[in-house]
Amino acid sequence: MALIVMKFGGTSVADMDRIRNVAAHVKREVTAGNKVAVVVSAMAGRTNELVDFVNDATDTPDQREYDAVVSSGEQVTSGLLALCLQNEGVAARSWQGWQIPLLTDDAHGKARINDINGDELRQSIEAGVVAVIAGFQGISPLGRIATLGRGGSDTSAVAIAAALDADLCDIYTDVDGVYTTDPRIVAKARRLQKVSYEEMLEMASLGAKVLQTRSVELAMLKNVRLAVRSSFDDPVTTPAVNMDGTSTIGTLVCSEEEIVEQQVVSGIAYAKDEAKVTLISIADKPGIAAAVFGPLAEANINVDMIVQNVSADGLTTDMTFTVPEADLPSALAVLEGHKDVLNYKELLGATNIVKVSIIGVGMRSHAGVAAEMFKELAAKGINIQAITTSEIKISILIDAAYQELAVRTLHSLFGLDQEPE
Ligand code: ADP
Ligand code: ASP
Ligand code: MG
Repeated sequence: MALIVMKFGGTSVADMDRIRNVAAHVKREVTAGNKVAVVVSAMAGRTNELVDFVNDATDTPDQREYDAVVSSGEQVTSGLLALCLQNEGVAARSWQGWQIPLLTDDAHGKARINDINGDELRQSIEAGVVAVIAGFQGISPLGRIATLGRGGSDTSAVAIAAALDADLCDIYTDVDGVYTTDPRIVAKARRLQKVSYEEMLEMASLGAKVLQTRSVELAMLKNVRLAVRSSFDDPVTTPAVNMDGTSTIGTLVCSEEEIVEQQVVSGIAYAKDEAKVTLISIADKPGIAAAVFGPLAEANINVDMIVQNVSADGLTTDMTFTVPEADLPSALAVLEGHKDVLNYKELLGATNIVKVSIIGVGMRSHAGVAAEMFKELAAKGINIQAITTSEIKISILIDAAYQELAVRTLHSLFGLDQEPE
């Protein structure tokens, strides 16, 4: 007998038939003698619709009311799943974030979890009642509903698993595991049997939205056994994901030491939601970078890739960097506000770019990966506008039109089209 957390995303609870299918998955685990907490998302598309309502109501929403509205989709699915389980003869009750309570900070819209008091929840589960928890939501220090950022139900599930000291956290979604790249873009993408926390963290933060970045961070920190699997598998006969990673289903996210066969590159991610800012002809002198990035930091704008050109005349240079696409208007406004100090000739903003990244812990011990990558992209006529690297990833910025070509090219180049020998 084990205590397991099962998380179901939007597509998995998209309508009543899908919710009944989820109930069948849960019933399977209960029948096998396990204690179960379920975390659910809102029905597919529902959260977007709620965000649109908020934006229709006002241009400058009070973030606490934004959270009151957008968290409601999960309230509906948690209640409906509890009803479907009861209908199947499985004892179940719904839990909203505030009822647990799942305590967050006050960063509404992107709140972080501070603490979970799991006592009452645990007692109820131990008494044999399946806990159906509304994901994505918690309660702020001032007692207001707070949401955890888009895709946040993954983080709810991992946090609940950690608080309950669960044996496993199964993330059920609309793909049957973590793939070498987004299977919707590259038909040759392959399911990974195992992926390390470190690689999954990079993949998620560089665009692979199959898991919310924070959920992976938390799983790594709290040592939560995490599996990604499909809710479309037969709910009665589907087996468990093997803890040794030899399963024919799902992907196990685990520590690096548990992965014996290591490819140099394990995965490729892409992110379209970045924008490029270019300052033409700014002074090439000490302090100029601080003068540009200081005000952006004050405005809470994250800068990612940065390129400063070599100055041809020793006096002026061009500087290019990326910011989240949603922050482009405010970044441009901040830099316009500092024009007298920065004294640039021109300020340009562009959104027709994409960041493509290769990820792999094997890169730590392999030289020449970047050179190989750049050479192959050049052969395909793809111009690289900016580069960033870390020990286990290389990211490049390219024209958005080349996104698919770049991802496919790199997928083949690093041997991901075939099963490793
Ligand atoms: P859920 O609603 O279940 O949370 P999401 O839409 O958030 O599901 O995440 C699942 C999606 O992530 C898949 O449909 C897939 O298109 C996308 N995805 C992106 N990169 C990857 C990857 N490397 N492996 C698997 N899925 C990926
Ligand atoms: N429903 C929320 C969203 O769409 C949370 C989630 O699905 O994880 O972002
Ligand atoms: Mg998701």
